[in-house]
Amino acid sequence: MEGIHEDNISCSGSIINKAHSSWLIVFLLSAMSYQLIKEEKVGFRVKKGDTAIVLSGKNKGKSGRVLSVLTSKERVIVEGLNIVKRHMKPNKKYKQGGIIEKEAPMHISNVMLLCPKCSKPTRMSSALLESGKKLRRCKKCSEFID
Ligand SMILES: [Zn+2]
Repeated sequence: MEGIHEDNISCSGSIINKAHSSWLIVFLLSAMSYQLIKEEKVGFRVKKGDTAIVLSGKNKGKSGRVLSVLTSKERVIVEGLNIVKRHMKPNKKYKQGGIIEKEAPMHISNVMLLCPKCSKPTRMSSALLESGKKLRRCKKCSEFID
């Protein structure tokens, strides 16, 4: 009787180990995809007030106005997109406190600039004018954008 009992224990033990290793694989894969995003070269400069279109995730294909650019974090906040719910303590702005919905920053590799001239998602090259003024230039329609 004792022998059977031990078998049962070792059997359930190996199931737990298998579950652990599959979680480890999931973790490693997600860590790798994050690294790829970080390494991607960003070929455009986003400015506040630009229109950006989302390339991946649940907001894929949606566009909105860029509210702010977090240069050091390489992230942008786009109006009405990537909404997260945040628990807030009551303060001056939110007297009631509770749950508020707020735009979360998105990595700039997940968004693309929407050209105001040709309305296409595009990358920008920077162009230096004779006057010394630096402008961005749409790679699709070659128009200059401030
Ligand atoms: Zn264009």
